[in-house]
Amino acid sequence: MKGRTIAVIGGSSAGPAAAAKAKRVNPAAEVTLFEASETVSYGICEAPYAISGLIADESKLVSYTPERLREEKNIAVRTGHYVEKIIPSKKHLVVKDLRGGTSFEHAYTHLVVATGSSPRTLGLPGEKSRNVFHLASREDTVAIMRYCSEASPSSAVIIGGGYIGMEMCEALLRKGLDVTLLHRHSLPMAGLEQETRETVVQELESHGVHFVTNVLVESLYEERGSVRHIATNRGSFEADIVILSLGVAPNVRLARAAKIRMGPTGAIGTDERQQTSADGIYAAGDCSEVRNMITGKPMYLPLATLASRAGWVAGENAAGGREVFKGAIRAMAVKIFDREFAQVGLSSAEARSAGFSVVTDTITAYAKVGIMPGSGKTTIISLYDKSSGKILGANVFGGEGSVLRANTLGVAIQHGLTADAISRLDLIYAPPFAPLWDPILVSANQARKKLK
Ligand SMILES: Cc1cc2nc3c(=O)[nH]c(=O)nc-3n(C[C@H](O)[C@H](O)[C@H](O)COP(=O)(O)OP(=O)(O)OC[C@H]3O[C@@H](n4cnc5c(N)ncnc54)[C@H](O)[C@@H]3O)c2cc1C
Repeated sequence: MKGRTIAVIGGSSAGPAAAAKAKRVNPAAEVTLFEASETVSYGICEAPYAISGLIADESKLVSYTPERLREEKNIAVRTGHYVEKIIPSKKHLVVKDLRGGTSFEHAYTHLVVATGSSPRTLGLPGEKSRNVFHLASREDTVAIMRYCSEASPSSAVIIGGGYIGMEMCEALLRKGLDVTLLHRHSLPMAGLEQETRETVVQELESHGVHFVTNVLVESLYEERGSVRHIATNRGSFEADIVILSLGVAPNVRLARAAKIRMGPTGAIGTDERQQTSADGIYAAGDCSEVRNMITGKPMYLPLATLASRAGWVAGENAAGGREVFKGAIRAMAVKIFDREFAQVGLSSAEARSAGFSVVTDTITAYAKVGIMPGSGKTTIISLYDKSSGKILGANVFGGEGSVLRANTLGVAIQHGLTADAISRLDLIYAPPFAPLWDPILVSANQARKKLK
């Protein structure tokens, strides 16, 4: 374990998790973290709420400054340093100091690649205009906030109906902008079930978002450095600010150039110790794939939760430990105005293409005792495997308490529970939180009958 020189590339979620864990497991190891930007450990997931003003102080999104990581965790943090090359045969990196402009070599015995992902682009001229933004970093967050306060935009076009698009609809509408969401399909939030997606549209429209479907963006018309018109197959749209939320792609250029093997999803492939195909090189986070616990197959699931967990495993093993990351299920949620939308496990399309014979069940029930003030309804769409009776996935949406129920179902999925087993769970009954028969029990009881 002694004498290890560990390098980590990337300072957002997976990288700091790996570096801190490596140092904890092996305090004698020398750990250096390289990050191209000036920020590490940034809570980008909270960025829409800083933009909306719900979080008043954007600087609170920084959970660790480089100084704190150095002082408290004893990690050599090099912000403003871009890793240009990994040379596995020599076990060294070529690093460019972005402030000084010089490049140097950095030797390692073990390496963690945590280069993350980049937002997808339209590939059209005009994307670099001063009022067109992605939201993927602290720089983006600050730039959007600055533009909003300096230019006082009154209309926004958001392109892309994934969860970040949803969060930005709410953020900009709450700031008083007129918001139009352009989406290339007929429903937003691909991967959720049809009924859930239709409810998302109702929620958006009832709060005044103009949702335009089946849109192909053709061009962004720039005038004096700003985009004012967006030409599409569905007509032209005007905007003072444009947000692109088109999804992300894994940053694998460095790893690919070092001949590290990619998995079937196009992200870096690893084993359950987060080890890549190259000796002593680990990968974690949005640049790598994870094993889907239900299908056993690799999947690409760029989430902070997985980046941190996989980062820990990569860091521990780089430091000489023997930790494993057995895989994950999808567990994600988004708040859209007054409703919570959550998904755990497989979608029905994924389950069918994985070869399961799927039984779907939908219930809507009160999330708290119905006569309690503020009690709202929650809908659970659950998917079961006909032959084993095991739960494969669920969408849960509605008022307060929906996400927490999805979490319970997520645990059930991870542990392979059947509808019968779920219907016997001891769940809390307390009027302010849950009725006597929790919606989860109502759903499992109904599914049990269908599965007979
Ligand atoms: C607006 C928004 C909201 C989100 N909300 C949620 C949420 O609610 N829940 C959730 O689980 N996830 C959420 N996510 C996703 C989550 O933020 C990502 O999954 C997570 O940040 C991935 O962390 P990472 O460290 O793998 O990669 P990244 O965050 O992409 O970071 C990679 C880092 O590596 C650096 N880097 C890359 N290449 C180099 C190089 N060659 N040299 C030096 N540095 C390099 C980059 O500058 C970057 O800082 C959200 C993402 C966004 C954008």
